[in-house]
Amino acid sequence: MSSNPNFKQLRVAVVGGGLGGLSAAVALRRAGHIVEIFERRDFNVEVGASISCAANGTQWLREWDVDIPDMKPVILMKLVMRDWETGKILNQYNLDHYEEEWGNVYNMLHRQDMHATLLKTATSPEGLGTPATVKIDHICESVDYEKGTVTFKNGNTVKADLIIGADGIRSAVRGQIGVVPDMKSAPQTCYRCNVRREDVDKLGLVKYSYDPAIQFWGGMPGSNGRSKYYKIVMSPCSDAEIVSFYCFMPTELTKHHEEGFTFKEVPVSDIITGRYDELDPDCVNLLKNSVDRMPWRLYVHQPYNHWFRGKACILGDAAHPMMPHQSQGACQAIEDAAALGIIFSDKYNFTQDVNAGLAMYQNIRKPRATRVQSASARATENLNERIGFTSLTPHDASLAAAEGKLTINEMNGYKMHDHVASEVAAMTRSNTDNLTRL
Ligand SMILES: Cc1cc2nc3c(=O)[nH]c(=O)nc-3n(C[C@H](O)[C@H](O)[C@H](O)COP(=O)(O)OP(=O)(O)OC[C@H]3O[C@@H](n4cnc5c(N)ncnc54)[C@H](O)[C@@H]3O)c2cc1C
Repeated sequence: MSSNPNFKQLRVAVVGGGLGGLSAAVALRRAGHIVEIFERRDFNVEVGASISCAANGTQWLREWDVDIPDMKPVILMKLVMRDWETGKILNQYNLDHYEEEWGNVYNMLHRQDMHATLLKTATSPEGLGTPATVKIDHICESVDYEKGTVTFKNGNTVKADLIIGADGIRSAVRGQIGVVPDMKSAPQTCYRCNVRREDVDKLGLVKYSYDPAIQFWGGMPGSNGRSKYYKIVMSPCSDAEIVSFYCFMPTELTKHHEEGFTFKEVPVSDIITGRYDELDPDCVNLLKNSVDRMPWRLYVHQPYNHWFRGKACILGDAAHPMMPHQSQGACQAIEDAAALGIIFSDKYNFTQDVNAGLAMYQNIRKPRATRVQSASARATENLNERIGFTSLTPHDASLAAAEGKLTINEMNGYKMHDHVASEVAAMTRSNTDNLTRL
């Protein structure tokens, strides 16, 4: 029971049950609302790949009492930059001070584990608030953001006080609120694949592959003319039972065109192509013994003009699709969810005026997410722009901050509760000034 007499319990429709939609469901049920999640497909097809959850994401999982050990995390201890051809270490950013400095660890998760635990947290009878409910086979077709209705392909229509479009990179809700994406094919494409740890041991492959680290090869122009778009990102996940790979290459080498993830296995020859013939042989051996090899086609989106209309907003990849090179897409979706949970909590009065709450949501989230989005585009061109590698020494970190680059401190030192409180106070002051002037 809320002590704020202005608090009103909202009926919330979340379109899309991915990492962002489930996070929003967790945040808003905890804030005291009735949440329904509408997902177009069955949940057993979540992508099997690693996802790193930095301190700025982990912070919210902890605040929401998510059972992080249930996600079988690997706690990362370093970021390692390797030479494309020899595998020699070129640079290393140690994370041994990370938790002490920013209060949370850097978790590497498997997407399926993360998704399963978030789904459990959103719908469990345990935990704060009313458990969220989930309806699958609900493909959103249209949204009336003034009336607050969502209509699905199966003919069902639901009415809600707040509609959240968490329907990913090809969002339907986004178009319904009048956003027209300005996007183009990225110059770089991606494949992901996994190597089982038992195979690493059995076949005598490189054991550092399951060290608690993210390891990078390439990501910069080679002295022999190799494109900067050749890059490998490798890390262990799922209690280090799986070594996950993202393999990047120039787009002209791929036959796959549909944006986002495709559930279609490809032969290893689709990955070991072009200048992969020069790649560190240890890494090639791992790739040759990989499973679940699938394409992940990338597009570059310019920031959108707006994220909400009437009672509807967008969140996560629907709102700020970004290149994956800061490993921040899901963390930013979690931050979106956290902002909605705070803004529509009983601490403030936005449940009386959902549209004003969504304006506050955009005000809080869009500038920060846009900064990460553009830093992700820059890191596509140069691995040295990645958070962590911009802060190899305290001197590098202060130079990077002065040059406007994204730093690990900017990401992890951010205090969203304080940010919302100060924006609401500024809004209240300005409303009072306007009234006094009348
Ligand atoms: C190669 C790569 C590596 C990455 N690595 C990281 C990383 O290490 N760390 C990190 O933080 N992020 C990472 N990301 C980004 C991260 O995967 C995404 O940002 C994140 O999954 C977005 O979550 P979402 O919920 O917004 O979208 P999604 O996860 O795409 O979820 C959208 C959901 O909506 C459903 N849906 C779609 N359309 C409809 C409809 N019309 N009606 C109903 N439901 C619908 C979909 O089925 C899906 O379940 C990576 C991305 C890529 C491409």
